[in-house]
Amino acid sequence: MSWEEKVRKVVPYIPGEQPRFSQMIKINTNENPYPPSPMVEEELQVMDSQDFRLYPDNEATELTSALAAYYRVDTENVFVGVGSDDVISQIFLTFFASDKSLLFPDITYSFYEVWAQLYRIPFRKVPLKEDWHMDKEAFRDCGGIIFPNPNAPTGILEAEDFVEQVVTANPDCVVVVDEAYIDFGGKSAIPLTKKYDNLLVVQTFSKSRSMAGMRIGFAVGSSKLISYLKAVKYSINSYTMSLAAIRLGVAAVRDEEYFRETVGRIVATRERVKKELGQLGFVFPDSMTNFIFAKHPGVGGKELYEFLRSRNIFVRHFNVDPLKDHLRITMGTDEQMDQMLDCLRVYLG
Ligand code: PMP
Repeated sequence: MSWEEKVRKVVPYIPGEQPRFSQMIKINTNENPYPPSPMVEEELQVMDSQDFRLYPDNEATELTSALAAYYRVDTENVFVGVGSDDVISQIFLTFFASDKSLLFPDITYSFYEVWAQLYRIPFRKVPLKEDWHMDKEAFRDCGGIIFPNPNAPTGILEAEDFVEQVVTANPDCVVVVDEAYIDFGGKSAIPLTKKYDNLLVVQTFSKSRSMAGMRIGFAVGSSKLISYLKAVKYSINSYTMSLAAIRLGVAAVRDEEYFRETVGRIVATRERVKKELGQLGFVFPDSMTNFIFAKHPGVGGKELYEFLRSRNIFVRHFNVDPLKDHLRITMGTDEQMDQMLDCLRVYLG
């Protein structure tokens, strides 16, 4: 057997491109257009490089405590990782170890399928309903469940009792709700984790807290779930969270006022952009996230994507059925959105 036959071969997840032009409008990877809280900047100023000599606290206690206080749970209910991608990857490894299929929606965050393949977890994609809502009845008889709420890239938020109905119908497996976009219009399922010991809720600092570059994500769940997750994490890498991520993350969590203000601005922009895109003839689900997944009946997605790109405006285009007629447009500042809308107006005549 050659060495190459012994390689674990995977088809990796392809993240959105990260172009670095000075004069560009980057609205392709759902980052936040506003800077992190001024409290993060202040913390950065007082950080001492001497502190980097030592390993950080492997429990990231300051950060888990700040999150526990914010979400009114105990520290033992919080797990932190290097972005929610790291957290979810470890969740896959920890909880989906049976030979029954893991379920996730057929249109969703495409990383789920990559992890399932990487860890050799059997999986089944659950078809969305015609209106692109998730079908709670279809999440049955499985080895585990994961879905984003709101879903991505559709932007659709499910009804308030959806999560609880899926959890109560599946007491024998772990149900994971990926709430990467929940702060832009939904109500978190975190309070339900006190009632159901098989429910895990995952969130990130990358979107609503403007800190994609710091790589901070977390999960909230029963102490039993969290301790299983920690056992796997400590079997791979004890020190996932850098000292900088821990300290700056704490500063971000403490500034609730700034968080609410910037999220409010993004939501206001989104609602205005919905109106303007509608006037230009675009159709889209009613997004409750910081992006809009829109298509134009008259022009293909790839054509629009390429046109905007030629104007240094980067949006996300997924060149696969049934998404390829759509553009996923992240909400930037009002000024950036106006420039994008002006370009579209000219192009569509
Ligand atoms: N879940 C969903 C649904 C996402 O869209 C993203 C962003 N690509 C993530 C998780 C991961 O975000 P991060 O690793 O930056 O926390």
